[in-house]
Amino acid sequence: MNDTPLSLRTFTTAKARRNALEERLSVSLSHTGSFTLDEGVASTKNCENMIGAVQIPLGVAGPLALTRTSGVKETCFLPLATTEGALVASVNRGCKAIALSGGAATDSFRAGATRGPSFKVSSLAENKKLMQFIDSHFEELKKITEQTSHHLTLMAVTSKGVGLYRYVRFSFDTQDAMGLNMVTIATDRAASYIEEQTGAHCTALSGNFCVDKKPSWQNFLNNRGFVVSAEVVLPKSVLRDVLKTNARHVYETWISKCMLGSVMSGSMGFNAQYANIIAALFIATGQDPAHVVEGSLGITTAEVQNGEDLYMSIYLPDLMLGTVGGGTGLATQREALTMLRVGAGGSGAEAMRLSEIVGGAVLAGEISLLSSLEQGTLSRAHETLGRGKDL
Ligand code: NAP
Repeated sequence: MNDTPLSLRTFTTAKARRNALEERLSVSLSHTGSFTLDEGVASTKNCENMIGAVQIPLGVAGPLALTRTSGVKETCFLPLATTEGALVASVNRGCKAIALSGGAATDSFRAGATRGPSFKVSSLAENKKLMQFIDSHFEELKKITEQTSHHLTLMAVTSKGVGLYRYVRFSFDTQDAMGLNMVTIATDRAASYIEEQTGAHCTALSGNFCVDKKPSWQNFLNNRGFVVSAEVVLPKSVLRDVLKTNARHVYETWISKCMLGSVMSGSMGFNAQYANIIAALFIATGQDPAHVVEGSLGITTAEVQNGEDLYMSIYLPDLMLGTVGGGTGLATQREALTMLRVGAGGSGAEAMRLSEIVGGAVLAGEISLLSSLEQGTLSRAHETLGRGKDL
């Protein structure tokens, strides 16, 4: 193979880059070249050296019935982009169980998009002075950071020191944007101010104290993005008729898998399959898929009530999403958001609404998977749906 470097930046269109690659590699990229998204936007805002687009099947589950934090009741159809056969069917069954149980209640609040730079000083005494400076200059930091955007508010600044290093965590309200570009720009200004005023050296604008795109106890315990809960009580009749099980059996599966199984493996996800549902919704709606790693954190609870009913809840401590910016403006992703009746942007209510929908969808996935594990039908469902065999 000709392995001289191919400078893809010398080409100005996806087609030109693709053709050069096709020639060099002697391969056809005709499917990669068939897409309807706006290349001008995507290649300047979302993806450098663009050569085309990857297609992922999009399924629909629902309707999902929710009563939101505000008390408003609504139903929605969930767009799920996935290649995992059985996933959409599983969420669909969970949605049916929720609807027949009177709907799920959701609760969401904003913890904020965070950036956590690291600073280096020359002694423990200097480190303490740096902490005192940060604690006493919140108003100045707020003014400096908020000058960088019309849609950004500094919510909190905390810090921790170790040896010659101090880690500072800035939390921002970024309204309807997921906000990572916004908070990076704002934190850069704040870090320059801290350097100028204290002499501390910023060693990394993202010092892994954010914590961006890594599983962490920091985010689990102190939260990031939106913090979302959802709950439902599944009556005996729904457990029997829709989920083909009963409260006691699902409870036992939950305790052995989500609780003890997670402890036995050191898993930070005390849940059955949050990442599956979050990945499918994130890809469909133009979220940053790398944030699935944070969305996978969380706790599912289950409790037998009145002897035969089952209370179930989900808790997402670290859900990073938005309805403007990033990939949310791309044509198919915008259509998926429109299908959910989530708007392009306002003062933060649209992103919060999306977070509650994600919470309800995650609950549907937990209900369905824990029920099928209890029945022993997980393998059969994947064999029939995941391998294309007849039902
Ligand atoms: P963005 O694509 O940079 O767009 C955000 C901008 O949208 C804001 O700056 C704001 O403009 C504008 N906006 C308009 N209406 C808004 C509203 N109602 N609420 C909030 N903003 C509104 O988006 P982002 O969310 O900051 O960043 C998302 C992107 O960051 C994704 O593509 C993700 O992959 C990427 N990302 C970046 C980093 C990083 O380190 N930079 C890390 C992880 C991910 P004004 O500021 O002018 O008001």
